[in-house]
Amino acid sequence: MSLLTQIFGSRNQRLLKQYQKTVREINALEPAMEQLSDEALQAKTPEFKARLAQGESLDALLPEAFAVCREASKRVLKMRHFDVQLIGAMTLHYGKIAEMGTGEGKTLMATLAAYLNGLAGTGVHVITVNDYLAQRDAESMGVLYGWLGLTTGCNLSSMDHDAKQLAYNADITYGTNNEFGFDYLRDNMVYDAADRVQRTLSFGIVDEVDSILIDEARTPLIISGQAENHTDLYYKMNEVPPLLTLQVGEETPDGKGKIEVPGDYTKDEKSHQVLLTEAGHEKAEQILTKMGLLPEGASLYDAANITLIHHLYAALRAHTLYHKDQHYVVQNGEVVIVDEFTGRLMSGRRWSEGLHQAVEAKEHVKIQNENQTLASITFQNYFRMYAKLAGMTGTADTEAYEFQEIYNLETVVIPPNRPSQRKDRQDQVYKTAQEKYQAMLKDIQDCYERGQPVLVGTTSIENSELLSGILTKAKLPHNVLNAKQHAREAEIIAQAGRPQAITIATNMAGRGTDIVLGGNVGKQIQLLESNEQLGDAEKAAQSQKLRDEWQSLHDQVVAAGGLHIIGTERHESRRVDNQLRGRSGRQGDPGSSRFYLSLDDALLRIFAGDRVRAIMDRLKMPEGEPIEAGIVSRSIESAQRKVEARNFDIRKQLLEYDDVANDQRKVIYQQRNELLEAQDVSELITSLRQGVFADVFRSYVPEQSMEEQWDLAGLDAVLRDEWQLDFSVTKALEAEPNATDEELLDKLLAAADAAYDAKVGVVGKESFGGFERSVMLQAIDSNWREHLSALDHLRQGIHLRGYAQQNPKQEYKREAFELFGQMLNRIKDEVIRIVMTVRIQSREEIDAAEEQLAQSHVENVHYQHADFDANAAPEDLLAPSAAPDQSAQQPHVNTMPKVGRNDPCPCGSGKKYKQCHGKLA
Ligand code: ADP
Ligand code: MG
Repeated sequence: MSLLTQIFGSRNQRLLKQYQKTVREINALEPAMEQLSDEALQAKTPEFKARLAQGESLDALLPEAFAVCREASKRVLKMRHFDVQLIGAMTLHYGKIAEMGTGEGKTLMATLAAYLNGLAGTGVHVITVNDYLAQRDAESMGVLYGWLGLTTGCNLSSMDHDAKQLAYNADITYGTNNEFGFDYLRDNMVYDAADRVQRTLSFGIVDEVDSILIDEARTPLIISGQAENHTDLYYKMNEVPPLLTLQVGEETPDGKGKIEVPGDYTKDEKSHQVLLTEAGHEKAEQILTKMGLLPEGASLYDAANITLIHHLYAALRAHTLYHKDQHYVVQNGEVVIVDEFTGRLMSGRRWSEGLHQAVEAKEHVKIQNENQTLASITFQNYFRMYAKLAGMTGTADTEAYEFQEIYNLETVVIPPNRPSQRKDRQDQVYKTAQEKYQAMLKDIQDCYERGQPVLVGTTSIENSELLSGILTKAKLPHNVLNAKQHAREAEIIAQAGRPQAITIATNMAGRGTDIVLGGNVGKQIQLLESNEQLGDAEKAAQSQKLRDEWQSLHDQVVAAGGLHIIGTERHESRRVDNQLRGRSGRQGDPGSSRFYLSLDDALLRIFAGDRVRAIMDRLKMPEGEPIEAGIVSRSIESAQRKVEARNFDIRKQLLEYDDVANDQRKVIYQQRNELLEAQDVSELITSLRQGVFADVFRSYVPEQSMEEQWDLAGLDAVLRDEWQLDFSVTKALEAEPNATDEELLDKLLAAADAAYDAKVGVVGKESFGGFERSVMLQAIDSNWREHLSALDHLRQGIHLRGYAQQNPKQEYKREAFELFGQMLNRIKDEVIRIVMTVRIQSREEIDAAEEQLAQSHVENVHYQHADFDANAAPEDLLAPSAAPDQSAQQPHVNTMPKVGRNDPCPCGSGKKYKQCHGKLA
């Protein structure tokens, strides 16, 4: 034993000892509990709640609450929590991971912690790997909670909003990790606080915690969709700019500059902005009315036409500021951006805010309605939001370091209720896959003839099918499970312990379902009990018969050696191998396990092949003879360790990058929620408005500048044309020649306030407030979506940047921060622009506009989380192309253009790519 394990081991021992003390306390309460009537026992729940309300802590309540829950379970479920289950539940309650073998009864164990924490009323989430298990556990354990006076909910993907809300409002809610995560994201996309389904994230108990927090954590949850399809509008709007003329010359404050040729719009090449003049605005309205895009007499500033003006500006910019073969090229019917500085083609990149589509319309190519990420989060970051998190699984210890490091979760190894009697045999290594399969067939055949059930674990569906073919040929009846139909597979696996049963299953298939030696009669007995046509005596007789039959099957299987496990390959992670082995030898059952390997297996080929082959050659192994030696197993284990470490790095990388987005997501979601909950948004709008106008003012009248540097005419024009504000700073200065810039700014802000108040006056504060809220939500959402996509581009491009000496992660963080700041400014600007320029005539109109904004702006919404394929061959994961930060591919992967090994490096170093950044790849 190494020094480290000694230390960890002793820490584990200490914790167990400590928990053991509480177990004795709980056991001492048992006789008194047994004395209580059902009513008295049930009355304990309100009593505990009252004591909590009076300030007693959950920790203090634990012994009694556990004793009550155990007693209730004895009465309603006919199961008495074992002492080790009490220990496991304490581990959960203290926010740690309980490692307990398969069949130790983790589902029942968790009820103690869920009951205790459920008393607090803030909600306990029990997270399972699939809907089937969520339903099964919610139903079976819900009986217990219900009896004790707590409510149980089950959160399924098929549920509608009301059903989900109900499920979340329960004291204890079961559901899958994906569903909880998606609900969180969806809750941050609603337009009405009442549409949210989740309450706070208070206590989460994650079942099969290694699958969920480790295996599935390599890919984020993503909600994607397409922005509303405006293809027609882009094409129509494309006809407008040619009808408008550019204004030549400009007014300047000193009166020297003059408008030489009045026109419809001005442009600023440097800032890539265009602006309609007053005349241009009117002309545009006439054109749009003629085209039927704008109703007769309507204004572009009407609340209903907010999108129209947006499109008009996009078209105008596309026509006047973006030039073919300079800013972009048209290639194979696509508009490809040219990088301003390097001249490189930026395939896959798109301009934002509808500009790209406008350019596509201008070039008469197909308008791409791209798929956008609407929201995304990694499991790491979702689960870290729980105030308290706990987990349980049969296999956590090998990953204890990662749980600690990433989730701050300690792993406690709980001893089994009864020691396992499973015999884990030495691996057998063959030279070829064929010899390996022959050997497995022999083993299976032998089990079958002796009546011993056997479970064969494979690493892929193809492998399962290959083996199934071999068994069919040998006329051996068997079942194949691929983790596709959870409910059906659970039933098959429940019977996998019957004599002669042969079951082939991939890693996740039937996980969470217990394999009882002799098969599972529980269900049949349940059916019998609920059959109302039978009398009690009849029921008792029949169920006794079933039990006797089961007993004889059980004895038969025990005599044959219990469940035999065959592994067809070592998985890349030792943990998954342990899971497979753990299916046998539950609750002190006999059993055995053996892995069959060959030098053709991916893991061996890549990591240990040469070494093992050398050993085999040295030992002069004849054909068909396996080697069975500790040295081989050790080579394989060290290979597994290498892959595990690498996978850990991949997850850590994903997390480090997601951390940046995560901080920003929190800010945005928090703002969003405050907005949803705010009674009155006018204060917020006022502070935004003052900020925006101060910024506008300062870009023409810089702080601490001389009067000669001021551009008041420019400012006046912008206030009038861009912000629809009838206020002239020039005139204000004329009226008070000694006014300081601060005083002028105050006057401007007062004018803006007055214009705003007048607007609100037309329809009333309430109607306008609702409209404002929707405008803000819409601005936040659409800018956040664009920001997500910008971050995505940034991350993919960061390694190709010319920061040879810099840490790309640092660089990413810095730029992401900058982008975020820009986005916040855009949001403010957009909101105030709409609020200040919107023309309001009636309350109905503004209410309709609010409604329109609140409706979904995206279509074809997809929920995706690449189900972790625990069976992926190691080479998929280890191929050199799988650079860590690409492993989390977003839905629309915009690849950077390929650079040849001998091309100059895009970073501009002048070196060849292969000698510069190409080295990294
Ligand atoms: P795990 O999740 O640990 O693999 P399960 O929760 O699926 O195990 O439980 C396995 C089986 O053990 C179930 O059939 C369950 O009813 C049974 N079981 C659990 N705890 C007890 C107990 N204290 N007494 C009797 N049976 C139990
Ligand atoms: Mg389980």
